[in-house]
Amino acid sequence: CGIFAYMNYRVPRTRKEIFETLIKGLQRLEYRGYDSAEQDGMDLKVEFETHFGIAHTRWATHGVPNAVNSHPQRSDKTNEFVVIHNGIITNYKDLRKFLETKGYEFESETDTETIAKLIKYVYDNRESEDIRFSTLVERVIQQLEGAFALVFKSIHYPGEAVTTRRGSPLLIGVRSKYKLSTEQIPILYRTCNIENVKNICKTRMKRLDSSTCLHAVGDKAVEFFFASDASAIIEHTNRVIFLEDDDIAAVADGKLSIHRVKRSASDDPSRAIQTLQ
Ligand code: GLU
Repeated sequence: CGIFAYMNYRVPRTRKEIFETLIKGLQRLEYRGYDSAEQDGMDLKVEFETHFGIAHTRWATHGVPNAVNSHPQRSDKTNEFVVIHNGIITNYKDLRKFLETKGYEFESETDTETIAKLIKYVYDNRESEDIRFSTLVERVIQQLEGAFALVFKSIHYPGEAVTTRRGSPLLIGVRSKYKLSTEQIPILYRTCNIENVKNICKTRMKRLDSSTCLHAVGDKAVEFFFASDASAIIEHTNRVIFLEDDDIAAVADGKLSIHRVKRSASDDPSRAIQTLQ
C-alpha cells in the first residue's frame, strides 16, 4: 500500500520520464513485481510541459487483488474523476447504498470506488459551475469515516491535483529552482529537511487553522511529488510538507495551497449522508 504521484508544471518531461519517475517512486515504497507501466500504442517520446501522473500499490482490504479492484478507482467509464487510496473507509457500505439508490453503478468490490463515485455525485449536484476541485474533495471527506490518504485527478480540472489524508500518511515534496516568495513564508514552518525530520519538523510544525490558505509556490516552473513515505521523495528534493489530518492540498496553475477542513459534527454515517441529499 503505497501512493506516489508526480506533477511537472512548466517542466517538460517525456512520457517515458514520467513513467520512470512513477515506477521508481513505487519501488521506493518497496513495491515489487509490477507488470508494466507502458501501454500498447503509447508514444513514450511525447513530451508534456505540464502533467499529473498518479500511481498506487495496493494492500487489498476490500475485494480480491485483481485488475478491476486495483487503483485508480474511477467515477465512471469516462474517468471523470479518478482516485488512489491508502487505508480503509469504514462507512463505505452506507455510502455505496446511498449512491446506488441515486443510480451510480459500481464495478469493483473496493471501498475506494465509493470515493470516486461520491466525488462525481457532489460534482453532478454542484450549485455553481465554477466550483473548485478542492471544495469537492472537502465535501467528500466530510462524509468519510475511517483512514485514508487520497490523491484525486479529474478531466474537469486539467493540470490540477488534490490530495488529502486522515490517519494514513501523505507528504508533498516540492522541487523548484526558484526561491519562495514572502507570501510563501508561513508554509516553511511546515516544511523541513528530510534528514532532520525528527529534530526540525516537530519543533517547527505550525498548526494551521481551518480557514488558512497558503500559497507555497509562485507561477514558476515547479515539480511536486506526493507520497505516502519520505523514502520515495528524498532522491528528488529535501523540501517536504507533511500533511496533517484533514488537510487538503491542492495544486492549480503550479500553486500549492493547503487548508484544513473542519470535521462534520456527525459521527453517524446515516446522518452524514443526509447532509448530501
Ligand atoms: N482499502 C483500499 C482497497 O482495498 C485501499 C487499500 C490500500 O491501502 O492499498 O482497495
